[in-house]
Amino acid sequence: MGREPAHGALGAGQRGLPLRAVQAPRAVGGQRLGQPAATALELLSRVIAAAGGGVQAVVYDGAFRGAHHHQLMHHHGVYVINKVHPAARTDTGRTYRTVPLGTWTHTTPRGRDCHHHLAAHHGDLHDTVTTDDGTLTLGPALHRPQLRRHRRADGTWRFNIAAVVPCRHGDFIAWVNPHPDAGDRNAGRTDQLRLLPESSPRFPGIYGLRNDSEAINAEFKRTFVADRAPALGWRRQLLAALAWAITNNARAHHLHHATHSRRSVA
Ligand SMILES: [Zn+2]
Repeated sequence: MGREPAHGALGAGQRGLPLRAVQAPRAVGGQRLGQPAATALELLSRVIAAAGGGVQAVVYDGAFRGAHHHQLMHHHGVYVINKVHPAARTDTGRTYRTVPLGTWTHTTPRGRDCHHHLAAHHGDLHDTVTTDDGTLTLGPALHRPQLRRHRRADGTWRFNIAAVVPCRHGDFIAWVNPHPDAGDRNAGRTDQLRLLPESSPRFPGIYGLRNDSEAINAEFKRTFVADRAPALGWRRQLLAALAWAITNNARAHHLHHATHSRRSVA
């Protein structure tokens, strides 16, 4: 745990500093050092199970990659809202991988097959064209009118994204599965595709919850004297974190009800 005792705390709640609630503090250290994503996944699984279907999405930072997205989708029916991991960062910006998703075929009015090769790029879905020199060119990001989630007989979950593919023979709907392909060891498709892509006008507002949650860590650290943890060893530090979380949650609970009852009176 070292100097970062607040790691592993998952914050959630309404916007506004006093109304956040800490759901599950946990030490990240020892054998777990360098594994914040695995620890967060474990904690999230417990919080999601306790919420009894009340969690639909998780906002998390870039430490969550395709395999983590898949775990949450597959086991809990919950998806991750975060930014796509770039292939490279340069002075002028970031570049992203293009992941081919396969071929979708529809029938033209003349009864012929028309093939479209879709790809994921920066979280979006695109139709692609291969030019004469073999270069893969992406069309505009496809419009997505629907997202489906269903539970299978074995209790796991499956998502599907509907995308409108424009075609001169007539537009059609392609259903795209965001889960890893069989044998896809690094979940590349899931890593580069997003159920809510950054290009969505709704993304900034929802992703902003992450900064809101980070602020709760900052508030805890502001209670340290001279910027030092109040105890030595991860057990004592976890106790300090738990005590602070309980105090914070009690205050948030009180303020929430005080605000709510004032509104009721008004
Ligand atoms: Zn077509």
